[in-house]
Amino acid sequence: MATTPLNDTEQLIRKLARENIQKLTPYLSARRLGGNGDVWLNANEYPTSPTLKVVSDLNRYPECQPKAVIERYASYAGVNPDEVLVSRGADESIELLLRAFCEPGKDAVLFCPPTYGMYSVSAETFGIERKTITAKQDWQLDLNAIKANLDSVKLIYVCSPNNPTGNIVNPDDIKALLELAEGRAMVAIDEAYIEFCPEHNKTSWLKDYPNLVILRTLSKAFALAGLRCGFTIARAEIIELLLKVIAPYPLAVPVADMAAEALLPEGISTMMKRVESIRKSRAWLVENLKQDARVVEVYPSETNYILVRFKDAAPVFKGLWDAGVIIRDQSKQVGLDNCLRITIGTQQECEAVVHTLNQI
Ligand SMILES: *Cc1c(COP(=O)(O)O)cnc(C)c1O
Repeated sequence: MATTPLNDTEQLIRKLARENIQKLTPYLSARRLGGNGDVWLNANEYPTSPTLKVVSDLNRYPECQPKAVIERYASYAGVNPDEVLVSRGADESIELLLRAFCEPGKDAVLFCPPTYGMYSVSAETFGIERKTITAKQDWQLDLNAIKANLDSVKLIYVCSPNNPTGNIVNPDDIKALLELAEGRAMVAIDEAYIEFCPEHNKTSWLKDYPNLVILRTLSKAFALAGLRCGFTIARAEIIELLLKVIAPYPLAVPVADMAAEALLPEGISTMMKRVESIRKSRAWLVENLKQDARVVEVYPSETNYILVRFKDAAPVFKGLWDAGVIIRDQSKQVGLDNCLRITIGTQQECEAVVHTLNQI
């Protein structure tokens, strides 16, 4: 293969940039993947936007941890304000934990694929060793394998409900994991989708487990992915530690204003209505997909997306893509061959999926 010579900037990068960054494949977000559609069901976003207002002046720097946002989120989550940290999306809290707990070249993080992609990308960016313990066939934790691989692990990410599989991780297994990790590693439970199954939230466990951290976001059920606002819930001492490594102004003033408004009682009841309507559309879509002869399995989901295994996913993905229905291909993840993930949009968008499938 012919290689073009490096220009002077490329040579400079080759010489100066960190080696792990030169090798890094960045996270392929739904936005980066592109597509040309009218029906966007590839990023687990809510299909319509709330309208929120900026009320503060913009000439002043924002508070690092805007009081109204922290107090309202704490009250919504049923924890103390000093147990909450707000950041630029849950993605930033994934990074803050790495920065606070993991020494590059020495410590490791552990997570269990198939799962959310940012645990791996963030660790790689920081040059922190990644230990991956593939989930069992039913996508539950392989506790024996985890136990055998805990050496040097300081941080464990568990996504529940899990993205992209949609299942809840067995709470008894999470307790066992917290106990295995006791005194040696933090366990971060990513609850990005917890509003779709609030009965599974783990905040009440904080009193029993000092090494428990919970990640939350306004990007999913609160319909505010564009706002970039997420939360970390942990014991006050852990939050204080994370505040040492966070940027001085992680949230822009408009973001803080809008997040505070979204967390008023009215915002929360609107969110709950969204969850109800997504659940209805999800049940409808599941029923219809089960009647499709190309579908091998529609996996149960506690979230605003479903994972579907097809006999042959590629033509299905391409047929939908060409018709402007953009979903997410998960077939490259371990154990997920021929699996596609479909976000639950509006009822009409769910109907568009079924209608388009019937035409392929
Ligand atoms: C969407 C998502 C996030 C990221 O949330 P942001 O607040 O938008 O950064 C984190 N974890 C999981 C599992 C997600 O699906």
